[in-house]
Amino acid sequence: MIVVKKFGGTSVGTPERIMNVAKRCIEDYNKGNDVVVVLSAMGDSTDDLIALAKQLNPNPPKRELDMLMSTGEQVSVSLMAMAMASLGVRAVSLNAFQVAMHTTHTYGNARLKRIDSERIRHELEDRKIVLITGFQGVNKYDDVTTLGRGGSDTTAVAIAAALHADTCEIYTDVDGVYTADPRIVPNAKKLEEITYDEMLDLATLGAGVLHNRSVELAKKYGVKLIVRSSLNNSEGTIVKEETKLVERMLISGVAVDRNSDRISVIGVKNEPGVAFKIFDVLAKAGINIDVILQSYGQGDTKDISFTLPSDRVDEAVEILNNSTDRLHFERVDVRHDIAKLSVVGAGMMSNPGVAAKMFEALYNANINISMISTSEIRITVLIDEKDAVRGAQAVHDAFGLED
Ligand code: ASP
Ligand code: MG
Repeated sequence: MIVVKKFGGTSVGTPERIMNVAKRCIEDYNKGNDVVVVLSAMGDSTDDLIALAKQLNPNPPKRELDMLMSTGEQVSVSLMAMAMASLGVRAVSLNAFQVAMHTTHTYGNARLKRIDSERIRHELEDRKIVLITGFQGVNKYDDVTTLGRGGSDTTAVAIAAALHADTCEIYTDVDGVYTADPRIVPNAKKLEEITYDEMLDLATLGAGVLHNRSVELAKKYGVKLIVRSSLNNSEGTIVKEETKLVERMLISGVAVDRNSDRISVIGVKNEPGVAFKIFDVLAKAGINIDVILQSYGQGDTKDISFTLPSDRVDEAVEILNNSTDRLHFERVDVRHDIAKLSVVGAGMMSNPGVAAKMFEALYNANINISMISTSEIRITVLIDEKDAVRGAQAVHDAFGLED
């Protein structure tokens, strides 16, 4: 079997933990498996590197920031190789350049395009454990890129796809995917399995367990993912194609995203092309927009509101204010104290009444909804940030998800 194992920052945060991970991987190797290990940077070291950069330049050049951040993963893989060597096992660490993990050229948020698997296969044939830096790639200028925060998951899935691995195990500090973040909803329950689509929505909507692009890739290439803890031996959660369960769970999970803000463009003209112009200028800057609400136009004007990641808000406002030659509006309002609350479940496709149930739970908790958006398998509402925890609990209870 070919097994790809990915360990997150907490799992390799100290020398002791690195040694534990080494032993765990060697167990697998000793069973005769080909073992490829993808690692994140130790603990919070990526954050520390960014903080260091900002002491010198509050707005560091993106190319140089990638060059800096990519060092974190290199520390992890080289130390892991040393740990394995100390246990008498042959291992080799490789960075993105040595493997050749080709990405698009965008620094800070590159996408993987192609992975050469030759070097990895060669090392595996030589019966070595192959240790690969997560999160980084190489672009067409032979520069180092990074895949966006949390991107090591995506590296692992891409390598699993390239090698046609039997499984891709994502080891983290929680023991699986839960019906809600247990820090917010203490009686949340661990899921045995979840579909790619559900996981993709949960990951995008703030569940935080997996990098959403890793789920996208896993779905595309049919890579079976297992999310499990590096600190114990419990089963974990399997992420895969939908199984033919007689009865699907109505709702698989509740997600809360507190890292979104809302922008309202007030008093735009009530005429064709306005929405296009607003979202076009933002798309050109690579800003992802989520929930959108347009007011019913009364007379000459209307308002358009939307949510976006908090760290892009200042930039978005500036772009809008600089586009007044194309766009006419009265003013731009920003609200930071909002949260997105979502329920996700493949079962809602065939069951009416899910939205009503969610709204009822929020009504009973006296929580006001300011925007709503839906897809086939999810419902998202925008609420005040102060209500986020209470709202998540109320909805989780209403659907009977508790343990
Ligand atoms: N070390 C990177 C980060 O902190 C990538 C990862 O952990 O997946 O974002
Ligand atoms: Mg992560």
